[in-house]
Amino acid sequence: MNNWNPSSWRDFPIKQQPTYNDLEKLKKVENELASYPPLIFAGEALNLRKQLADVVNGKAFLLQGGDCAESFASFNATNIKDLFKVMMQMAVVLTFSGGCPVVKVGRVAGQFAKPRSSDFEEIDGISLPSYRGDIINDMEFTEKARNPRAKKLLKAYNQSAATMNLLRAFSRGGMADLNQVHLWNLDFVKDNYLGAKYEELANKISESLTFMKACGITSENTPQLNQTTLFTSHEALLLNYEQALTRRDSITGDWFNCAAHMLWIGDRTRDLRDAHIEYFRGINNPIGCKVGPTMKEDELIQLIDTLNPNNEAGRLNLIVRMGANKVGDFLPKLLKRVKAEGKNVLWSSDPMHGNTIKADNGYKTRDFEAILSEVKQFFQIHRSEGTYAGGIHLEMTGQNVTECTGSASSAVTQESLSNRYHTQCDPRMNADQALELSFMIADTLKD
Ligand code: PEP
Ligand code: MN
Repeated sequence: MNNWNPSSWRDFPIKQQPTYNDLEKLKKVENELASYPPLIFAGEALNLRKQLADVVNGKAFLLQGGDCAESFASFNATNIKDLFKVMMQMAVVLTFSGGCPVVKVGRVAGQFAKPRSSDFEEIDGISLPSYRGDIINDMEFTEKARNPRAKKLLKAYNQSAATMNLLRAFSRGGMADLNQVHLWNLDFVKDNYLGAKYEELANKISESLTFMKACGITSENTPQLNQTTLFTSHEALLLNYEQALTRRDSITGDWFNCAAHMLWIGDRTRDLRDAHIEYFRGINNPIGCKVGPTMKEDELIQLIDTLNPNNEAGRLNLIVRMGANKVGDFLPKLLKRVKAEGKNVLWSSDPMHGNTIKADNGYKTRDFEAILSEVKQFFQIHRSEGTYAGGIHLEMTGQNVTECTGSASSAVTQESLSNRYHTQCDPRMNADQALELSFMIADTLKD
């Protein structure tokens, strides 16, 4: 890799970074982080790359989801368990009804740093630095809270490690057992028609398991029946943190970001001349890049060539986030060009970030109909271009929040947004809405 090293990004212009006052302290924290153990190892990241190559080749589907931003305050076992459950539930719907293996990747265990539309926020004539996520500063609108503090990087690392630990335990320790398929239905989901629809599917799976057991197929000889892998991912935005967790694999000598299995580049930091692209070209993890409506065809080809020069399937996931009103105009020409150039990329749909609106009462929200519409169009466009719609990227939670409006199962209105609006940043789908979307996608995958 030409002239690349984990810190070479520092010689490039960079966007969306905090300004730390105490640089000495920052250096100390970075050194300390660099001495900490990795959160994942290279073999796991390579395994995910292999599984994502199956997605590129139309043999599997990618489900990526989780909070917009994790927070220090809502860090507890229940939230992690409920996200795990809803991801399992969605995966089982997609696998059983859609007939497609599902690769599960959480926006979790490191999803802390946020890009913002403005560096400053002004309230009542007072201007303070914007909140940039719990790894950087605090949300409260005071000078002290908004001041970036380096030691928050250490807390983010520790929270990520503990989250990862619990997710690994759930994946291997019985929570992922298909015999538990009924238990993934969260209490508040059970009461509506979707919960009932899921119960029906769970009953069919239980029946199949009984039959398979009678035939001698059990979790003792088939571990897939009671174990799973939930990979982790986050936007690698705060490069001081990412660099400190970038390690050389002792077997291959290659560099990996060991803070998560997969990392992605945000739509606001994907400029080809900038630091984030420089950092990403050198790590060997599977990576993603958000693709918004301003992406030009030539620019996309250059980006692909820079990030995936060997054209390997499974390395690069293009996460399309254009908005329900724009995807029809902008996606087809990108698909045509990428196909014509023979590039092996995974296309997934983020139907959240192009559909954010402000409700009349000031809440940032997204309407379920717009989300659904973008996903449906995404599938239709791929079908007409002869390309594969490989995955979905969602902001969602296992909690019964009221942050996105609409959906048949969860009647959140603009008026009820304030009931349980808990997000740190962007509005998330609740478990009902996420499940409803999964059933819709499963039907599409089946066709
Ligand atoms: C996000 O995924 O939370 C995000 C900020 O997305 P984007 O870069 O697509 O705006
Ligand atoms: Mn977001």
